[in-house]
Amino acid sequence: SLTSKAAVVTGSTSGIGLAIAKALAREGADVMLNGFGEADAIEATRAGIEAEFGVRALYSGADMTKPAEIAGMIAEAEGAFGRVDILVNNAGIQFVSPVEEFPPERWDAIIAINLSSAFHTVRAAVPGMKARGFGRIINVASAHSLVASPFKSAYVAAKHGIAGFTKSVALELATHGITANCISPGYVWTPLVESQIPDTMKARGLTKEQVIEDVLLKAQPTKEFVTVDQVAAIAVFLCSSAATQMTGANLSVDGGWTAQ
Ligand code: NAD
Repeated sequence: SLTSKAAVVTGSTSGIGLAIAKALAREGADVMLNGFGEADAIEATRAGIEAEFGVRALYSGADMTKPAEIAGMIAEAEGAFGRVDILVNNAGIQFVSPVEEFPPERWDAIIAINLSSAFHTVRAAVPGMKARGFGRIINVASAHSLVASPFKSAYVAAKHGIAGFTKSVALELATHGITANCISPGYVWTPLVESQIPDTMKARGLTKEQVIEDVLLKAQPTKEFVTVDQVAAIAVFLCSSAATQMTGANLSVDGGWTAQ
Protein backbone atom coordinates (compact mmCIF):
# COMPACT_ATOMS: atom_id res chain seq x y z
CA SER A 1 0.00 0.00 0.00
CA LEU A 2 1.14 3.52 -0.78
CA THR A 3 -0.95 5.19 1.92
CA SER A 4 0.95 8.18 3.36
CA LYS A 5 3.00 8.48 0.16
CA ALA A 6 2.66 11.34 -2.32
CA ALA A 7 3.33 11.26 -6.04
CA VAL A 8 3.82 13.71 -8.88
CA VAL A 9 3.08 12.33 -12.33
CA THR A 10 3.96 14.59 -15.26
CA GLY A 11 1.77 14.43 -18.35
CA SER A 12 -1.04 12.74 -16.45
CA THR A 13 -4.11 14.32 -18.06
CA SER A 14 -4.09 11.58 -20.71
CA GLY A 15 -2.85 8.16 -21.70
CA ILE A 16 -0.15 6.36 -19.74
CA GLY A 17 0.37 9.13 -17.18
CA LEU A 18 -3.30 9.21 -16.25
CA ALA A 19 -3.34 5.43 -15.83
CA ILE A 20 -0.24 5.62 -13.60
CA ALA A 21 -1.73 8.43 -11.48
CA LYS A 22 -4.93 6.44 -10.98
CA ALA A 23 -3.03 3.24 -10.16
CA LEU A 24 -0.94 5.04 -7.52
CA ALA A 25 -4.09 6.64 -6.08
CA ARG A 26 -5.76 3.21 -5.99
CA GLU A 27 -2.86 2.12 -3.74
CA GLY A 28 -3.53 5.09 -1.46
CA ALA A 29 -1.03 7.69 -2.64
CA ASP A 30 -1.89 11.37 -2.88
CA VAL A 31 -1.23 12.49 -6.44
CA MET A 32 -0.43 15.67 -8.28
CA LEU A 33 -1.67 15.57 -11.85
CA ASN A 34 -0.02 17.60 -14.59
CA GLY A 35 -0.51 18.16 -18.28
CA PHE A 36 -2.57 20.04 -20.78
CA GLY A 37 -6.21 19.75 -21.71
CA GLU A 38 -9.61 21.27 -21.25
CA ALA A 39 -10.00 22.75 -17.75
CA ASP A 40 -13.40 21.19 -17.01
CA ALA A 41 -12.26 17.74 -18.12
CA ILE A 42 -9.10 17.98 -15.99
CA GLU A 43 -11.10 19.10 -12.95
CA ALA A 44 -13.51 16.19 -13.47
CA THR A 45 -10.56 13.79 -13.59
CA ARG A 46 -8.99 15.31 -10.46
CA ALA A 47 -12.21 15.27 -8.46
CA GLY A 48 -12.99 11.76 -9.75
CA ILE A 49 -9.68 10.43 -8.40
CA GLU A 50 -10.36 11.94 -4.97
CA ALA A 51 -13.88 10.53 -4.89
CA GLU A 52 -12.99 7.07 -6.18
CA PHE A 53 -9.81 6.42 -4.19
CA GLY A 54 -10.19 8.63 -1.09
CA VAL A 55 -6.83 10.36 -1.61
CA ARG A 56 -5.91 13.98 -2.22
CA ALA A 57 -5.49 14.87 -5.86
CA LEU A 58 -4.11 18.19 -7.06
CA TYR A 59 -3.46 19.54 -10.51
CA SER A 60 -0.57 21.64 -11.78
CA GLY A 61 -0.64 23.10 -15.27
CA ALA A 62 3.16 23.48 -15.30
CA ASP A 63 4.58 23.43 -18.81
CA MET A 64 7.37 20.85 -19.03
CA THR A 65 9.31 23.13 -21.37
CA LYS A 66 9.59 25.75 -18.60
CA PRO A 67 12.15 24.99 -15.85
CA ALA A 68 10.75 27.60 -13.44
CA GLU A 69 7.23 26.18 -13.76
CA ILE A 70 8.58 22.66 -13.17
CA ALA A 71 10.35 23.75 -9.97
CA GLY A 72 7.16 25.50 -8.90
CA MET A 73 5.13 22.31 -9.44
CA ILE A 74 7.42 20.26 -7.19
CA ALA A 75 7.42 23.01 -4.54
CA GLU A 76 3.62 23.16 -4.70
CA ALA A 77 3.32 19.39 -4.23
CA GLU A 78 5.76 19.43 -1.30
CA GLY A 79 3.85 22.32 0.23
CA ALA A 80 0.46 20.67 -0.10
CA PHE A 81 1.37 17.04 0.65
CA GLY A 82 4.41 17.69 2.85
CA ARG A 83 6.40 15.33 0.61
CA VAL A 84 7.07 13.99 -2.84
CA ASP A 85 8.03 10.32 -2.50
CA ILE A 86 7.20 9.15 -6.00
CA LEU A 87 8.16 11.11 -9.09
CA VAL A 88 6.96 9.82 -12.44
CA ASN A 89 8.45 11.60 -15.44
CA ASN A 90 5.98 10.69 -18.14
CA ALA A 91 5.13 13.81 -20.15
CA GLY A 92 6.13 13.32 -23.74
CA ILE A 93 5.40 14.33 -27.30
CA GLN A 94 6.26 12.85 -30.67
CA PHE A 95 7.02 14.32 -34.07
CA VAL A 96 7.63 12.27 -37.19
CA SER A 97 9.70 13.73 -40.04
CA PRO A 98 12.76 13.06 -42.18
CA VAL A 99 15.75 14.51 -40.34
CA GLU A 100 16.60 17.12 -42.98
CA GLU A 101 13.04 18.48 -42.79
CA PHE A 102 12.73 18.19 -39.00
CA PRO A 103 11.69 21.64 -37.69
CA PRO A 104 14.36 22.80 -35.22
CA GLU A 105 11.69 24.11 -32.83
CA ARG A 106 10.10 20.63 -32.76
CA TRP A 107 13.50 19.13 -31.97
CA ASP A 108 13.93 21.58 -29.09
CA ALA A 109 10.43 20.89 -27.75
CA ILE A 110 10.92 17.12 -27.78
CA ILE A 111 14.28 17.35 -26.01
CA ALA A 112 12.78 19.75 -23.45
CA ILE A 113 9.62 17.75 -22.67
CA ASN A 114 10.84 14.16 -23.13
CA LEU A 115 14.30 14.60 -21.58
CA SER A 116 15.18 17.88 -19.85
CA SER A 117 11.94 18.11 -17.85
CA ALA A 118 13.04 14.97 -15.96
CA PHE A 119 16.27 16.69 -14.97
CA HIS A 120 14.30 19.66 -13.68
CA THR A 121 11.83 17.57 -11.66
CA VAL A 122 14.57 15.34 -10.26
CA ARG A 123 16.78 18.21 -9.16
CA ALA A 124 13.80 19.77 -7.39
CA ALA A 125 12.50 16.57 -5.76
CA VAL A 126 15.73 14.86 -4.68
CA PRO A 127 16.59 17.07 -1.68
CA GLY A 128 13.28 16.16 0.00
CA MET A 129 13.66 12.48 -0.92
CA LYS A 130 17.18 12.44 0.55
CA ALA A 131 15.97 14.13 3.73
CA ARG A 132 13.28 11.44 4.16
CA GLY A 133 15.55 8.60 3.01
CA PHE A 134 13.02 7.37 0.50
CA GLY A 135 12.23 8.01 -3.12
CA ARG A 136 10.98 6.33 -6.27
CA ILE A 137 11.89 7.98 -9.56
CA ILE A 138 10.17 6.36 -12.51
CA ASN A 139 10.90 7.61 -15.99
CA VAL A 140 8.57 6.54 -18.77
CA ALA A 141 11.04 6.01 -21.59
CA SER A 142 10.21 3.83 -24.59
CA ALA A 143 11.41 0.91 -26.69
CA HIS A 144 13.00 3.84 -28.51
CA SER A 145 15.34 4.22 -25.52
CA LEU A 146 16.94 0.95 -26.70
CA VAL A 147 16.42 0.80 -30.46
CA ALA A 148 15.60 3.34 -33.18
CA SER A 149 13.06 3.87 -35.93
CA PRO A 150 13.49 6.15 -38.94
CA PHE A 151 11.86 9.62 -38.95
CA LYS A 152 11.87 9.88 -35.13
CA SER A 153 15.34 11.35 -34.61
CA ALA A 154 14.44 13.76 -31.80
CA TYR A 155 12.29 11.23 -29.93
CA VAL A 156 14.91 8.49 -30.17
CA ALA A 157 17.64 10.90 -29.04
CA ALA A 158 15.54 12.06 -26.07
CA LYS A 159 14.56 8.53 -25.05
CA HIS A 160 18.12 7.19 -25.26
CA GLY A 161 19.05 10.26 -23.23
CA ILE A 162 16.56 9.61 -20.46
CA ALA A 163 17.72 5.99 -20.18
CA GLY A 164 21.24 7.25 -19.55
CA PHE A 165 20.08 9.96 -17.18
CA THR A 166 18.16 7.35 -15.18
CA LYS A 167 21.24 5.18 -14.72
CA SER A 168 23.38 8.12 -13.60
CA VAL A 169 20.78 9.27 -11.07
CA ALA A 170 20.34 5.69 -9.81
CA LEU A 171 24.04 5.47 -9.02
CA GLU A 172 24.12 8.85 -7.27
CA LEU A 173 21.14 8.04 -5.06
CA ALA A 174 21.79 4.35 -4.44
CA THR A 175 22.66 4.75 -0.76
CA HIS A 176 19.78 7.12 0.00
CA GLY A 177 16.83 4.75 -0.28
CA ILE A 178 15.97 6.29 -3.62
CA THR A 179 15.63 4.18 -6.76
CA ALA A 180 15.49 5.40 -10.34
CA ASN A 181 14.24 3.20 -13.15
CA CYS A 182 12.83 3.44 -16.65
CA ILE A 183 9.76 1.73 -17.96
CA SER A 184 10.05 1.25 -21.71
CA PRO A 185 6.79 0.49 -23.43
CA GLY A 186 6.41 -0.59 -27.01
CA TYR A 187 3.33 0.73 -28.78
CA VAL A 188 0.57 1.63 -26.34
CA TRP A 189 -2.75 2.71 -27.80
CA THR A 190 -3.02 6.32 -26.61
CA PRO A 191 -3.67 9.71 -28.24
CA LEU A 192 0.12 10.03 -28.81
CA VAL A 193 0.17 6.95 -31.04
CA GLU A 194 -3.12 7.68 -32.76
CA SER A 195 -2.07 11.22 -33.64
CA GLN A 196 1.21 10.20 -35.33
CA ILE A 197 -0.56 7.93 -37.81
CA PRO A 198 -1.35 10.70 -40.37
CA ASP A 199 2.28 11.92 -40.47
CA THR A 200 3.58 8.37 -40.75
CA MET A 201 1.12 7.79 -43.62
CA LYS A 202 2.59 10.86 -45.32
CA ALA A 203 6.26 10.12 -44.54
CA ARG A 204 6.02 6.52 -45.76
CA GLY A 205 3.20 6.79 -48.33
CA LEU A 206 0.97 4.25 -46.55
CA THR A 207 -2.70 3.86 -45.65
CA LYS A 208 -3.86 3.98 -42.01
CA GLU A 209 -4.30 0.19 -41.92
CA GLN A 210 -0.80 -0.29 -43.37
CA VAL A 211 0.70 2.02 -40.72
CA ILE A 212 -0.99 0.05 -37.91
CA GLU A 213 -0.11 -3.40 -39.28
CA ASP A 214 3.15 -2.82 -41.17
CA VAL A 215 4.80 -0.06 -39.08
CA LEU A 216 3.43 -0.09 -35.54
CA LEU A 217 2.56 -3.71 -34.84
CA LYS A 218 5.26 -4.96 -37.22
CA ALA A 219 7.80 -4.19 -34.52
CA GLN A 220 5.79 -5.98 -31.84
CA PRO A 221 6.01 -9.80 -32.03
CA THR A 222 2.84 -10.25 -29.94
CA LYS A 223 0.93 -8.22 -32.59
CA GLU A 224 -0.98 -6.50 -29.82
CA PHE A 225 -0.79 -3.00 -28.40
CA VAL A 226 0.37 -2.65 -24.80
CA THR A 227 -2.35 -1.25 -22.52
CA VAL A 228 -1.93 1.77 -20.25
CA ASP A 229 -2.93 -0.35 -17.26
CA GLN A 230 -0.12 -2.83 -17.97
CA VAL A 231 2.37 0.04 -17.83
CA ALA A 232 0.77 1.45 -14.68
CA ALA A 233 1.04 -1.91 -12.90
CA ILE A 234 4.80 -1.85 -13.38
CA ALA A 235 5.00 1.65 -11.93
CA VAL A 236 3.10 0.43 -8.85
CA PHE A 237 5.48 -2.52 -8.56
CA LEU A 238 8.50 -0.20 -8.70
CA CYS A 239 7.05 1.69 -5.70
CA SER A 240 6.68 -1.49 -3.65
CA SER A 241 9.19 -2.82 -1.13
CA ALA A 242 9.75 -5.83 -3.43
CA ALA A 243 11.48 -3.44 -5.85
CA THR A 244 13.84 -1.91 -3.28
CA GLN A 245 16.90 -3.43 -4.95
CA MET A 246 15.79 -2.58 -8.48
CA THR A 247 17.54 0.58 -9.53
CA GLY A 248 19.09 1.81 -12.73
CA ALA A 249 17.00 -0.71 -14.67
CA ASN A 250 15.19 -0.23 -17.95
CA LEU A 251 12.09 -2.42 -17.91
CA SER A 252 10.74 -3.33 -21.33
CA VAL A 253 6.99 -3.78 -21.80
CA ASP A 254 7.01 -4.10 -25.53
CA GLY A 255 5.51 -7.39 -26.64
CA GLY A 256 9.00 -8.66 -27.44
CA TRP A 257 9.96 -5.77 -29.73
CA THR A 258 13.49 -5.20 -28.36
CA ALA A 259 14.23 -8.93 -28.07
CA GLN A 260 14.62 -8.97 -31.85
P1 NAD B 1 -0.46 11.21 -24.42
O1 NAD B 1 -0.35 12.15 -25.57
O2 NAD B 1 -1.71 10.44 -24.22
O3 NAD B 1 -0.13 11.97 -23.07
C1 NAD B 1 0.93 12.89 -22.99
C2 NAD B 1 0.74 13.74 -21.76
O4 NAD B 1 1.81 14.70 -21.69
C3 NAD B 1 -0.56 14.53 -21.76
O5 NAD B 1 -1.07 14.59 -20.45
C4 NAD B 1 -0.11 15.92 -22.22
O6 NAD B 1 -0.97 16.96 -21.81
C5 NAD B 1 1.23 15.98 -21.53
N1 NAD B 1 2.10 17.01 -22.08
C6 NAD B 1 2.47 17.21 -23.36
N2 NAD B 1 3.25 18.30 -23.46
C7 NAD B 1 3.38 18.79 -22.21
C8 NAD B 1 4.06 19.90 -21.66
N3 NAD B 1 4.78 20.77 -22.41
N4 NAD B 1 3.97 20.10 -20.33
C9 NAD B 1 3.24 19.28 -19.54
N5 NAD B 1 2.58 18.21 -20.02
C10 NAD B 1 2.65 17.97 -21.32
O7 NAD B 1 0.80 10.25 -24.61
P2 NAD B 1 1.16 8.81 -23.98
O8 NAD B 1 1.18 7.86 -25.11
O9 NAD B 1 0.38 8.51 -22.77
O10 NAD B 1 2.69 9.08 -23.61
C11 NAD B 1 3.15 9.22 -22.29
C12 NAD B 1 4.63 8.87 -22.26
O11 NAD B 1 4.79 7.52 -22.67
C13 NAD B 1 5.49 9.72 -23.19
O12 NAD B 1 6.72 10.01 -22.57
C14 NAD B 1 5.71 8.80 -24.37
O13 NAD B 1 6.88 9.09 -25.06
C15 NAD B 1 5.79 7.46 -23.66
N6 NAD B 1 5.55 6.32 -24.54
C16 NAD B 1 4.36 6.16 -25.19
C17 NAD B 1 4.20 5.05 -26.00
C18 NAD B 1 2.94 4.81 -26.76
O14 NAD B 1 2.94 3.92 -27.62
N7 NAD B 1 1.87 5.53 -26.50
C19 NAD B 1 5.24 4.13 -26.15
C20 NAD B 1 6.42 4.32 -25.46
C21 NAD B 1 6.56 5.41 -24.65
